[in-house]
Amino acid sequence: MRAPAATRPSRLMSSIDQAISIKYNNLVYELKATGHDIITLSLGEAFFDIPAPDFSGFDVAELHHYSHSRGVPELRRRLAKYYEDRFGPSVDPDQEMIITAGSKAAIYMTLLAVLEPGDEVIMTEPFWLSYPAHVRLCRGEPVMVAHQESLFDLERHITARTRVIIINNPNNPTGKVYTAAELDHLHALATRHGLLLLVDEAYNEFVAPGTAFVSAAVGDPERLHTVTVNSMSKNFGISGWRIGYLIAHRRIVDEVLKLNQHLVTCAPTILAGYLAGHFDELISRTRPQIQQAVAMRATAAGWLADAGIDTLPGEATFYLFGSLGESSLNSDAFATRLLRERGVCVVPGIAYGESCDRHIRISVGTESPERTRRGIAAIRSLIDATRT
Ligand code: PLP
Repeated sequence: MRAPAATRPSRLMSSIDQAISIKYNNLVYELKATGHDIITLSLGEAFFDIPAPDFSGFDVAELHHYSHSRGVPELRRRLAKYYEDRFGPSVDPDQEMIITAGSKAAIYMTLLAVLEPGDEVIMTEPFWLSYPAHVRLCRGEPVMVAHQESLFDLERHITARTRVIIINNPNNPTGKVYTAAELDHLHALATRHGLLLLVDEAYNEFVAPGTAFVSAAVGDPERLHTVTVNSMSKNFGISGWRIGYLIAHRRIVDEVLKLNQHLVTCAPTILAGYLAGHFDELISRTRPQIQQAVAMRATAAGWLADAGIDTLPGEATFYLFGSLGESSLNSDAFATRLLRERGVCVVPGIAYGESCDRHIRISVGTESPERTRRGIAAIRSLIDATRT
């Protein structure tokens, strides 16, 4: 049946695809609902044992309503302190921060606040898969840089239209942590060319002891060109609560504030209020579990190596970006067959850029070690079954 003409989407929306990772996860939900046992190595989060929220004792009248559209002040203050304690530079929670309904919204609203149509945004592959869609939704042009290229050669992609460089540190899907030298280079490029450096630090706690993580805020304490985006989704194990935040120069925060006011008003007040009151308790519950997830990643990296499956360099998060080696399949065909024939779900590398079509993302955040190991064996066996 033909769709009614009045429901036709805009050209802009027609150019946007569904998020591939969510598409695969929806397939998993459907297969599980029909009784299939799926080893799920595709989810973008780690599952933690944390208490169900208890709202008794809170001022209910306040928590049921809109909050300040910069976000509940107590949570902003607590987040600013967290940043200062962890990374050094001080943050003004009243001028330089806004709490958003997830960091996805923070990234999109930042881009909307600064991009003119046709402006270019440089992103290195593998990028987090929503960045290109966010840029296109702002009528900008994503400029994707193949993963084989050195970060130190990024300058050759800068044109008169370049406005933003966006990176994800630590990186989803490789687990790479940017070195201080790499960050210094990016800050220097931003300064030299008048660009905004948008750094997504959603996984900043998922770093093994001994690995140095440097927040981008450190290299630009006055926030002249750096926007730092973060989230409570991953570090606090509460992705469904939709609490993210950004730290930036007040000039940018003021523009994002207008967008927030017109689009969502504020992040969920009751949840932000709860988090302000339980911040320390929650992070002390999740930190040891985060370290278990990072350790599980290291174990899984060993299993992949033993199975002869190469991964792109990385040591943080709970993701591994595994090579398809000698398989003749592209990453989408491989992931589809792995799911349909072997009951294992991963995310195809093509979601993270053209240069990543010989890879798949393997997430070890939710399955048991035994099932993860079986999943890796299934990947190996499908590579063998589809050799060129
Ligand atoms: N940034 C990265 C790198 C992510 O992997 C995700 C979610 O998977 C997000 C941002 C979005 O997180 P949220 O909107 O839940 O804060």
